[in-house]
Amino acid sequence: MSQETNIPYKIYLEESEMPKQWYNVRGDMKKKPAPILNPGTGKPVTLDELSGIFCKELAEQELDDTSRFIDIPQEIRDFYRMYRPAPLVRAYCLEKKLDTPAHIYYKFEGNNTSGSHKLNSAIAQAYYAKKQGLKGVTTETGAGQWGTALSMACSYFDLDCQVYMVKVSYEQKPFRREVMRTYGANVTPSPSMNTEVGRKINAEFPGTGGSLGCAISEAVEAAVSQEGYRYVLGSVLSQVLLHQSVIGLETKTALDKYGIKADMIIGCAGGGSNLGGLISPFAGEILRGENNYEIIAVEPASCPSLTRGVYAYDFCDTGKVCPLAKMYTLGSGFMPSPNHAGGLRYHGMSSVVSELYDQGILSARSVEQTEVFKAAETFARVEGILPAPESSHAIKVAIDEAVKCRETGEAKNIVFGLTGTGYFDMVAYQKYNDGDMSDYIPTDDDLQKSISQLPKIG
Ligand SMILES: *Cc1c(COP(=O)(O)O)cnc(C)c1O
Repeated sequence: MSQETNIPYKIYLEESEMPKQWYNVRGDMKKKPAPILNPGTGKPVTLDELSGIFCKELAEQELDDTSRFIDIPQEIRDFYRMYRPAPLVRAYCLEKKLDTPAHIYYKFEGNNTSGSHKLNSAIAQAYYAKKQGLKGVTTETGAGQWGTALSMACSYFDLDCQVYMVKVSYEQKPFRREVMRTYGANVTPSPSMNTEVGRKINAEFPGTGGSLGCAISEAVEAAVSQEGYRYVLGSVLSQVLLHQSVIGLETKTALDKYGIKADMIIGCAGGGSNLGGLISPFAGEILRGENNYEIIAVEPASCPSLTRGVYAYDFCDTGKVCPLAKMYTLGSGFMPSPNHAGGLRYHGMSSVVSELYDQGILSARSVEQTEVFKAAETFARVEGILPAPESSHAIKVAIDEAVKCRETGEAKNIVFGLTGTGYFDMVAYQKYNDGDMSDYIPTDDDLQKSISQLPKIG
């Protein structure tokens, strides 16, 4: 591995090297992810049914498990050019700090105002809404990254953007809220008095801080009760993974440009969209029998859907209004402990990532939050970027693997996804710096409670 000196600190692609098509890994899967079901009928959702919730073209993408490539419309590519291609960074300083023979690379997706990869799908979803002639979209946001990305995308296409933000976050993360408002979004603390479901929850639980499940229910009600609106989601769905494939495609082009063969690819997994997008082209090569990679999904020990969940049909939302998906899940009633600081609190996992995991294409690891913040601190101090807590799950495992290489003397090429920056997560960093952070791992009994509530399908 004497290419060392040829590889720049940052591998930038030319604009002309950016992908012109998204890659749909389902097209290369012999055994496809199970179809999503209508919760009312228990039958696979039809394009017509799905088009009542999502824009028509997004519904088509959701159901398309055969096309391998789908053109990225020029308008979306023009927007991508404002903050992409994203650099693939060789972590020379981290390698030196760890004294490892491993070569570490990270794909940095935090170079935009929303601070994460979520903009890659937000702009696509806003584009199709605009193209269909809609007035606007509704969504929910917890910590605020998705709401921020969507508000940027909607302002670009001059669409109305209504965000239901979990009330505790609305109050505790005022800066994210103000970024969204700056981009023209209408941000409502949830539960609100705008919707029937919000009024009902407020009456039942006066003073409640809300939950993601409740915010989803409000956003869906707002979409279906207003003419010209649709509901959009920032993760989990197959359409979101498709849009996020730009991460993996660019990564692969950058590696190929310097003749680097990745040995390991590591990503954090909440709903599975960044991980799915990063690994798709590599998983495709494995599926086609062309190459081999070790792929690792990293999840928090406090919300371990892949490592401790079951593979079953479940509701995608706590409000039980969205279609049912077969996925690794802890049960839609699972509530991660409030002391869990970072994101990645989703109870389930993208059905594409779940099926690839079930087929053994990737493995999964869970890590505890104190060690995650320790890894974040190590990374920030040498690489300069203050990482998002979610991204730091991937950093933690990349560091572990690089340390193993120090022991074995192997010069593995380790690639991980650095999904975003952590500037809005300083309360969690403060807890870590003050030594007030603790780890929480649900007991088998905790998990059994929500898993036993899974809908009975088939
Ligand atoms: C939302 C988010 C994630 C997790 O979402 P996935 O759908 O699992 O990718 C990871 N990192 C950052 C910075 C995020 O904002």
